[in-house]
Amino acid sequence: MAPQLYPEYPPELSPEEEQYLLSNLKDWSIAHGLAVRPAPSFVPTSHDPSGALATTAPVTLFPSLFPRKCFEEGLAIQTAYNELYSAIARDEQWLQTIVEELIGVDDFVGRLWQIHVQVKLEGYVQDLSLGLFRSDYMVHSDSSASTSSLGLKQVEFNTIASSFGGLSSQVSKLHNYLLKVGAYPVSTAATLQKDALQLSYSGFNLAKGLAAAHTAYGSSQTERPLCVLFVVQEPERNVFDQRHLEYALLTGGVRSFRLPFHRTLQDTKLDMDRTLVYIPPSMPSTAFEVTTVYFRAGYSPDDYPREEEWKARLQLERSRAIKCPSILTHLAGCKKIQQVLATPHSPHLKRFLPDDAVASRVLSTFAPIYPLDESQAGLEARKLAKDPHTAARYVLKPQREGGGNNIYRKSIPGFLESLPVKSWPAYILMEMIEPPPLQNAIVRNGEVQKGGVIGELGVYGVCLWRSGSGENSGEVLQNFEAGYLLRTKGDQSEEGGVAAGFGAVDSCCLV
Ligand code: ADP
Ligand code: MG
Ligand code: MG
Repeated sequence: MAPQLYPEYPPELSPEEEQYLLSNLKDWSIAHGLAVRPAPSFVPTSHDPSGALATTAPVTLFPSLFPRKCFEEGLAIQTAYNELYSAIARDEQWLQTIVEELIGVDDFVGRLWQIHVQVKLEGYVQDLSLGLFRSDYMVHSDSSASTSSLGLKQVEFNTIASSFGGLSSQVSKLHNYLLKVGAYPVSTAATLQKDALQLSYSGFNLAKGLAAAHTAYGSSQTERPLCVLFVVQEPERNVFDQRHLEYALLTGGVRSFRLPFHRTLQDTKLDMDRTLVYIPPSMPSTAFEVTTVYFRAGYSPDDYPREEEWKARLQLERSRAIKCPSILTHLAGCKKIQQVLATPHSPHLKRFLPDDAVASRVLSTFAPIYPLDESQAGLEARKLAKDPHTAARYVLKPQREGGGNNIYRKSIPGFLESLPVKSWPAYILMEMIEPPPLQNAIVRNGEVQKGGVIGELGVYGVCLWRSGSGENSGEVLQNFEAGYLLRTKGDQSEEGGVAAGFGAVDSCCLV
């Protein structure tokens, strides 16, 4: 293993120093909504029957050190990534050629595509689409430990329910607060000075994106009050992350509501012109016109336990509300798309990013990814995946979101053996990104865990564009970088999900 890049960081704390840091951290986080609902394994439902309790979200004690060059590059290319994925979502024919390879082997993707086909047949009545994206990266170290050999490599690109924008803004403020109250030793405080600690404005910026869609929708033709609808899972432990966006929207004068996905058919209906009408159960005599549907649910097959949920997704897609994301934008986030874009010497990237300089910056963030189909590259990748020695350098991914779906390293050959060969093309094989070793401490449910960690940088992007066949088709109304997220996990864990209990929210101290 490569030597520790920054052996002095984070510093050792005396028990008194750690106590001071923790008590400030715990109080500040609850006072500022850097919180989650407790897991039932931590607080059994019987101890909190009305769901009133909250606890500090898993966070790092210290901001993690992060190479400035990599951080700045990630933020700088976000608008190019927004352009890329909005262009993919507009190019239905291109998307179809890729999705068709998945339809027979992945029912979930197949059903999503069917919804698009059904709505297209009838005709879409909304040509604006909103993307609240998040491009995730790790720093890759080329085995030698000098800073010049570090580069940013993309883990994945999220087009639906990109979470933690609300909490990320809070954790960078928390670390800044801990610095101000002297909770960090002098040496750490010196490292954090000189603009090293990066605040994230992701919560505000994502809300700004939703507000832009809300405004672009226009006024109600029926004099109804307008609203944004957050389509959510229930129960949702990560509710405060979403609430931060709701509160920011309200500050800007935009009303929003939370609609549990399974309640869609009860609480919404379509007018004759497919205006989406929402009637809150708490205000049965008031009908709101929905300008924007923001999905924080609907990305996992588990969200569709009954046919009703599929009908619900169809109803929302048919509606005149702006979708964040549309079905096509959701599908553009398939890992298969990422693999196709990363194919060496392929014409695909150029198709969507005609400027060579922009395309080559994006290209340099791709890690090697292979198909597992019957193409030449696919057959070679199958060989790598079946051999435990070579498989140890890879991760196998299905077309799924939300964490917990991947198969890592030596588990890959056995897993593939258990699958019929005809379903192998539903997966992609990706080289593991190997970040340089770092240390930090994570507080989870009040307990401190110290040791080697791996960080994953997420960069948010907002894009609002027009598709369809009208004269303004292709118009991009909004395209901006929208802040960052750093998630940090123990280096023994393959997965990094904060909500899934593996990682913590963190902020970047640039070095
Ligand atoms: P999901 O959409 O479920 O979040 P990801 O592709 O982000 O799927 O994979 C989940 C986690 O697996 C990531 O957060 C990261 O910790 C780990 N991971 C995924 N791909 C790689 C990779 N190429 N190298 C190292 N770790 C990876
Ligand atoms: Mg994802
Ligand atoms: Mg991910």
